[in-house]
Amino acid sequence: MNKQKNNGNIKSGKKHHKSKKQYGKQHSAQASRTSGKSKGKHRTDTPRQSNQRGITAEVTCTGLTNEGKGIVQWKGKQLEIAGLLPGETGEVNIFKKGRFIDTKLKRVIKPSEDRANLTLSFPNEGVGCHLYHMNEHAQNRFKQKFIDELMKPFGKPEPIITMEFPFYYRNKNVMTFGLNKKRQIICGLYAENSHQIIPMERSIIHDQKADEIIQTIKGMMKSFKMQPYNEDTGRGFLRHVLVRVGKKSGEIMVVLVAASPMFKGKNNFVKALRKAHPEITTILLNVNKRNDSMVLGNQEKVLFGKGTITDTLCGLKFNISAKSFYQINPVQTEKLYAKAIEMAELTGKETVVDAYCGIGTIGLIASKKAGKVIGVELNKDAVRDAIHNSKRNGMKNARFYQGDAGEFMMQMAARGEKADVVFMDPPRSGSDEAFLSSVVKMQPNRVVYISCNPVTQARDLKYLAKNGYAVESIQPVDMFPQTVHVECCSLLVRKN
Ligand code: SAH
Repeated sequence: MNKQKNNGNIKSGKKHHKSKKQYGKQHSAQASRTSGKSKGKHRTDTPRQSNQRGITAEVTCTGLTNEGKGIVQWKGKQLEIAGLLPGETGEVNIFKKGRFIDTKLKRVIKPSEDRANLTLSFPNEGVGCHLYHMNEHAQNRFKQKFIDELMKPFGKPEPIITMEFPFYYRNKNVMTFGLNKKRQIICGLYAENSHQIIPMERSIIHDQKADEIIQTIKGMMKSFKMQPYNEDTGRGFLRHVLVRVGKKSGEIMVVLVAASPMFKGKNNFVKALRKAHPEITTILLNVNKRNDSMVLGNQEKVLFGKGTITDTLCGLKFNISAKSFYQINPVQTEKLYAKAIEMAELTGKETVVDAYCGIGTIGLIASKKAGKVIGVELNKDAVRDAIHNSKRNGMKNARFYQGDAGEFMMQMAARGEKADVVFMDPPRSGSDEAFLSSVVKMQPNRVVYISCNPVTQARDLKYLAKNGYAVESIQPVDMFPQTVHVECCSLLVRKN
């Protein structure tokens, strides 16, 4: 299987200039809310032509939004143009869409030095990658600036930890299935803020083998009379395919997410898929009857193999179920965890809490250097994986509990239990007062806070900083190259 080397479709040429026409093509229209008022001076940008599809104007980008979109001033309004970089002049389509103004970059007239020199091999390969038009330096600068500004009240963050080859890194890959207007089967990703599928065969951040398998499944559907699910009518079967890859182990899990458990011809389907891809180690059917945007439902059936995959991280072996959380970029995860463990300054005696522990990764890696580890996690499958992983790696000093981390910590604090170090790695919404106030009560010497959403992390740091803790170190890590997302690991130390 592919081992994350620069052997794929991504090519980087010597000079970053390419034909002007190529630039605009890759960027889809993004809805941008108009501010309705002029924000300071703006250029006299020249509308060229007016038609039903809006007008074309030449605009110059003055900055970036937090979503990585180019900011331009146009006729007293601030517009956001996906794909345009600061200093660049571009030709854009501007058109009304209800109460919003939509924009689409047609071409870049004067490219910036920050523009990436990528040759994409497949249509829409960059969908979902808000920053792929920026080169690595510009992406790093963008993320560093975001973290520096956000964390200013707590001190100066460390330089971001970057990824050497920032492509094809995802170990979890999902594509959604549907029909196009010609009623042909398509698969791809949802357009931003919508449930319209943008068809794509490959993504520059997906595992390449995973995308190949998804395309094989798409190709098999017709002969197996398998219909994609239609959200509007509620008819059809296949909603998504999720492929999880153990980047080190080479194990591959395929999850067919369907609207119904009635899978006609499943044995033949599984046989044909395994024949086409003998590298697949397990196949599952997940039934999702929900109406929201969650990919996986609760019901699950193993169709082939053991239903989980194993991967190695920081020298330990981890069992991963379909529904368990597992960091999506293992190369960067090893760097992140090494930093987190370093911040904890463990000596071998400490009582460590691993809160929001998932399959137990951080806690088990820390357990080698700690007295004992107590892990807590909401997701039942993940807790089962964590317990299994603890045994598998021969860790005798780690215990894992299922429950809400806030409630669990409140109970620990109420019983007068103490912890020396708390690792916390909550979901994007951050932690809550139940959890944070219990940390304050339990008075651990060190809190290592890992977060995939630095905005909620900053909010929670503020609470802890007001309640006896000093923010000693802030380490951004680029876990999600090509996208606007950034991970941040912060160390808090209890003041005397
Ligand atoms: N530390 C793990 C997982 C981090 S992701 C790792 O690095 O792999 C955040 C985890 O928090 C997820 O596993 C999610 O299931 C869990 N979670 C979400 N809300 C929670 C809550 N209220 N209490 C405990 N765990 C929760």
